[in-house]
Amino acid sequence: MVYEVIVDISNSDTDKVFDYLAPFPIERGSRVLVPFGRRQVEGFVVGIKEKSDCRYDLKDVIMLLDDYPVILPEMLALAEYMRATDLRLIDCLRLFVPAKLRGGRVKALRRNYLYPEVSLTLEEALTKVKPSAKAQRALLCELYEVKAAAEARILERYSPSAVKALVEKGLIRRESTELSRTPAGMPAERKKVELTPEQAVAVKAVSEGAPGTYLIHGVTGSGKTEIYLNLIKKTLAEGKNAIMLVPEISLTPQMLGIFRARFGDMVSVLHSGLSDGERYDEWRRLLTGGARVALGARSAVFAPLTDVGVIIIDEEHDSSYVSENNPRYFTSEIAEFRRAYNGAKLVLGSATPSVETYYKAVKGEYTLITLDKRINRMQLPELETVDMRDEIRAGNAGIFSARLLSGLEETLKEGNQAMLFLNRRGYASFLRCRSCGFVPKCPSCEVSLTYHKEDNTLRCHYCGARYRAIEKCPICGYEDLKEGKTGTEKVEAEIKRIFPEARVLRMDNDTTRSRDSYREILTAFGAGEADVLVGTQMIAKGHDFKNVTLVGIIDADVALYYSDYRSAERTFQLITQMAGRAGRESKPGRVVMQTYSPNHYVYKFAKRYDYRGFFEKEINTRELTKYPPYSKIVRLLVLSAEADPARDAARALCAEIVSLKAKTPGIMRVQVMPAAMKKLRDYYRYQVVAWIDSDAAKEVMPYVYAKANAANNNKITVFTEVNPQQML
Ligand code: ADP
Ligand code: ZN
Repeated sequence: MVYEVIVDISNSDTDKVFDYLAPFPIERGSRVLVPFGRRQVEGFVVGIKEKSDCRYDLKDVIMLLDDYPVILPEMLALAEYMRATDLRLIDCLRLFVPAKLRGGRVKALRRNYLYPEVSLTLEEALTKVKPSAKAQRALLCELYEVKAAAEARILERYSPSAVKALVEKGLIRRESTELSRTPAGMPAERKKVELTPEQAVAVKAVSEGAPGTYLIHGVTGSGKTEIYLNLIKKTLAEGKNAIMLVPEISLTPQMLGIFRARFGDMVSVLHSGLSDGERYDEWRRLLTGGARVALGARSAVFAPLTDVGVIIIDEEHDSSYVSENNPRYFTSEIAEFRRAYNGAKLVLGSATPSVETYYKAVKGEYTLITLDKRINRMQLPELETVDMRDEIRAGNAGIFSARLLSGLEETLKEGNQAMLFLNRRGYASFLRCRSCGFVPKCPSCEVSLTYHKEDNTLRCHYCGARYRAIEKCPICGYEDLKEGKTGTEKVEAEIKRIFPEARVLRMDNDTTRSRDSYREILTAFGAGEADVLVGTQMIAKGHDFKNVTLVGIIDADVALYYSDYRSAERTFQLITQMAGRAGRESKPGRVVMQTYSPNHYVYKFAKRYDYRGFFEKEINTRELTKYPPYSKIVRLLVLSAEADPARDAARALCAEIVSLKAKTPGIMRVQVMPAAMKKLRDYYRYQVVAWIDSDAAKEVMPYVYAKANAANNNKITVFTEVNPQQML
């Protein structure tokens, strides 16, 4: 047999498969050590065939690296599928195994135990040891007494030679046992819950429905988790396995606790907080059948499970499901591949589905299940908008409106808690008239222009158009256009100045540098150690706090005027999520949204929790402006260490796509420009942005990928992004 091996060498252009022979049979998906040039390198066996077309003499595989294939046949097929975009096969395969498995940097944790020889009594055994060997005799007595002991413990008190002597005489046995490093969850009581009628309908619709994709659109607190748990239970009962994905942030110990309480050791957890040993053990438990439910963040979509019956993606709209670093992938696309491969069901859940997902549900591509009641009929908090332009007119140029200040005062007086949310997208900013709310837009792309302070320009990230920043509002003539940007630190300082007695916690990138600080801050706030929590997006999801009665959104427009076609959608999602933080239990909550554009449709619908209404309006806008789902925005990001090669390659790529455009009406626009971040981490960045009609994408994309691939060389790297999360 001839084995096709893809070699695992980083930073090389070789993504080719090489043929090898082997003196022993090997299964597909195995990791092997092979001679490669003058080196020995690791690789994966991706194919087996009768004979090779190679002209040279084939070499032998040196050895197998594991006891079993580490890549399942399904995952080999998946890698081939991913390769059809511009990913390298080896990069895909690497996604499927724990990183430290490569190079043998992580191993199963084995521990040796010592046992007395059962066929002998202690007296008989002692006759075989010289009276002078005091240590050996003592060790024998001890082992006969305790019946078994960890060798490491014994060696704390006895010499290795004593143990060795007894083993050699056949008086004690050494056995090696594998230990599982399984991360602990928080113990959760196993609540017996009776499904509500709405939940029962949802469970039935999925479990008795045909294989396919289901969208569960349920308001916050409608009990989606319980639906997922029931679906997984049914899947396991059918002898199939399950994958449950949550945004990284939701993987709280509580969540693990709930899953452990229901499914015990059947659950394996995969997320970035695991140690290498834990990750390896959890992964292997899935591969070898020890665990049948994979629970984790986006990378758990690659869980090594066969016979997958259900894949669940909770909070499907969350941007953490998109991998924006190499290799780039959409978790939902991978899940869809695995769903189809297994004839399984894919369940997407959200209170605020992404517009593209909901569109598919409306068109009938997905089955839509709606839950519009909260468990126990709890009320959703009241949302109010405050028009910040009125504040300016009334002489208040501060961060807080009079409404929010009185709300804070009241909350503090009653001993309740408040959360103040400040949207930050780091780099990007916009100019806004604080008197009339005007924000400059790109005339051809319909997105807000981004303000670049360094050269005082306004730029469109989609078409590259640049304008000199304006100082005077063209609508109302107000002369002080301000950058729409306030920092969390400033908000914290203001609170402390106005309410000196208030205890304030802040959560942002600066205060959450270490892995645990995120959890620590939320735990402290939950325990009532502070009255006010000021934070960025990080506080919008995750924990529920009983005593939070006020949520203040300092500048709701920040997400709205980010130059991105999804800005209204993101604003709606953020508001809904933040609202979900207030009044979770008996205390009614209130949300105050400060805005300079109170008449924007997003606020009208968000206030009423009217997702459907928002969707109808938004999808119309997308159709008019030809944004996704009516098109695919494809960005070819071209990087090089010097400026010229990237620029030239980007121009050449653009020219090729322009020439294709002449033949295919499916390509609507193509433009080449420097990326918004022209230089990042020593690389110059140029981009080609193509707008491709959705209907034509299937036909056009392979061509685009091929062109992008062909442009890669040792000076230039091209990344292809579809509907990028941000155009930086
Ligand atoms: P969602 O994910 O839809 O926002 P959750 O799954 O967090 O909602 O459920 C909200 C709360 O309702 C949780 O505390 C959960 O334990 C509880 N819950 C869910 N289903 C039921 C039920 N059938 N009976 C009683 N309580 C339930
Ligand atoms: Zn533009």
